[in-house]
Amino acid sequence: MHPPPTPEFGPEFCVWETTLACNLSCRHCGSSAGKARANELDTEEALALIDALANLGTREITFSGGEFIVRPDWRLLLARAKSRGVASLLVSNGLALTREVADELARQDVGSVSLSVDGSPPAHDRLRPLNKLHALEFSGPCGAEGPSSHEQLRHAVENLRAAGVTVSAITQVSKNNLAELPAIEEFLVASGIDGWQIQMTNAMGRGARSAGEHAIQILEPADLPTLYAHVRRVQREGRVRCLAADCLGYFAPDEPLLRSVERPGDNFWQGCQAGMRVLGITSDGGIKGCLSMTDTFLEGNLRERPLHEVWNDRSAFAYNRRFDEATLTGGCSGCAFGKLCRAGCRSFAATAQDGDISRYDHCIRLQDAATTSSPQ
Ligand code: SF4
Ligand code: SF4
Repeated sequence: MHPPPTPEFGPEFCVWETTLACNLSCRHCGSSAGKARANELDTEEALALIDALANLGTREITFSGGEFIVRPDWRLLLARAKSRGVASLLVSNGLALTREVADELARQDVGSVSLSVDGSPPAHDRLRPLNKLHALEFSGPCGAEGPSSHEQLRHAVENLRAAGVTVSAITQVSKNNLAELPAIEEFLVASGIDGWQIQMTNAMGRGARSAGEHAIQILEPADLPTLYAHVRRVQREGRVRCLAADCLGYFAPDEPLLRSVERPGDNFWQGCQAGMRVLGITSDGGIKGCLSMTDTFLEGNLRERPLHEVWNDRSAFAYNRRFDEATLTGGCSGCAFGKLCRAGCRSFAATAQDGDISRYDHCIRLQDAATTSSPQ
């Protein structure tokens, strides 16, 4: 038996980049996915990882990528998680979600599949083109011939719903698709998709490409009022359950509504949970507090040190576990919520602010204050 996890911290939620292979080649992909890494965890190592997570008390694994379904052993991995009593969720682009795949996901009790939806059909297809290396190989009756990833997405929704699997949506927002949010909302309502997570695109991987034909312009603080006006309207109207991702917030007067899952006021921001309750694993065994963080935040590798040792290492994940409010700078310095908030999303801050996580320029509280105090 491994020693019990450090009591005050436990990796309840793990997001696992199971492979970097992907059948799409999204313009803003934070992992620059497409080809598998040369040294990804093999089946035996992947099954051992699930066991290690179960031993550490992980409640939920989000199988991500790249595209999880392109791993030939995906059925085995889901079956192992199920047999260990760990809940499975998927993040997927939908391309390979045939009816047969959807039925298997249902058999393995996958809790929900979050599909990436980034715009109306033309905008979505522009941001999420097929990866010519893999598209035909990994597509099936979803409509392998079609050049439109949005069309494949619609098939995926139908297949998942027919199989009885819960479907939700995730939208990555940059300046490239900020104006697409109303069109996405209409698509979700028409498709009967009830859960919608809205998050800002990180300047990571291909999302960091700021020049050239495929440039991605990440949102600036000045874009936040437009983004939040949309999020707040969707939440008020309630046609789709809209959940702000971790990078949105914090502590504006409507914070409880922004972050509530079931009913207004049931939740509020409690600071980044990377290395506290959340863990990220890369496809080659890298261990991070959160998968969205850059490699600067790697704490070790499964092949060099057992997971429980890294997790229980008192010096690991220091940016959160040993956070010192006195290190806050910029608009976060002196903020009444600083100790709890720890300057927002560490991953978004690091990529937007050249690695500086001591402040969070994209905080809506700061933006609301600036708007209120600026002369009319
Ligand atoms: S100003 Fe900084 S510390 Fe205060 S709520 Fe916003 S992100 Fe958090
Ligand atoms: S880095 Fe951001 S996305 Fe990751 S756990 Fe922290 S707040 Fe959440």
